[in-house]
Amino acid sequence: MAEVKEVGPALIGNVYTVVLSQRNKEMLQLEGYLYHLECSRGSITGVCIFCLYYREKTPVQSGVTASVKQKYLIIFDFDETIINENSDDSVIRAAPGGTLPDWLRNSLKDGFYNEYMQHVFEYLGEQGVQEEAIRNEYSKIPLSPGMLNIFNFLMKNSGLFEIILISDANMFGIEATLKAIGFHSLFRKIYTNPAHFDKRGYLVLRPYHSHTCTKCPANMCKRKIVTEYLTERAQQSVKFEKMLYVGDGANDFCPTVVFSSNDVAFPRKNYPMHRRILEMQKSQPNVYQPTVIPWQSADDVIYYLQRLLQT
Ligand SMILES: [Mg+2]
Ligand SMILES: [Zn+2]
Repeated sequence: MAEVKEVGPALIGNVYTVVLSQRNKEMLQLEGYLYHLECSRGSITGVCIFCLYYREKTPVQSGVTASVKQKYLIIFDFDETIINENSDDSVIRAAPGGTLPDWLRNSLKDGFYNEYMQHVFEYLGEQGVQEEAIRNEYSKIPLSPGMLNIFNFLMKNSGLFEIILISDANMFGIEATLKAIGFHSLFRKIYTNPAHFDKRGYLVLRPYHSHTCTKCPANMCKRKIVTEYLTERAQQSVKFEKMLYVGDGANDFCPTVVFSSNDVAFPRKNYPMHRRILEMQKSQPNVYQPTVIPWQSADDVIYYLQRLLQT
């Protein structure tokens, strides 16, 4: 039997996300209006998960002052965007002596980072570093400046934004960090490399997918993920007013190349994504379409979003 696992902050008439769960396994994530009904026997407050589903065919006409607004899709990177470090480096603090042996460090080959991290986690396992110690390292990675502010801002305006995370880190680490700060539920979906603990208690990392993009590492092209996400949402009759991308790395540049002039790229100032944008703007003027707003603190992004919601 499915149950309502989670509802956003209560404001009658606003749109909230409901996660229906079954034996702790996420089954469905739906959206609906928060309603309040009263009768002679009492009152009930809940989320109608059907009104948005039927929105396309039947405009919502309930007793509450619900206004249907187009949503903004906001996409976050993880390493050096949400957190202020590269988590693949942070987790090495769990190794004996807090460092890796030279033979392992020197085994990293260009474009094969995912395979390298598979070996790093294998090494941590062999050294007896257990799940709790690895979780602990992910839990205490510092966030980038302003990141808690923007998460709180998005939580307050959750009906207007659809928020996803795309990262070349791994699912175990990302979930550990987000749960530690209490914002795991902010993200509708997390796309990253799968990772699980095997029978030996070792963290086993896998590549996310394969692709044909020549610009991205073999295990992940974020442009392919964004494109597939938009196709999936379009099939569910969800179209976005605007796309916003907050990132820092070279692999965050690739997805924004297909953005339109209506969309916004937020590259971390002077990081690889920003440098790639500047290079393209110089070498191929007018090809890169989205508005570019470099950020040093996520407060810079909030400033833009506040103005967007005022228009
Ligand atoms: Mg990054
Ligand atoms: Zn790519």
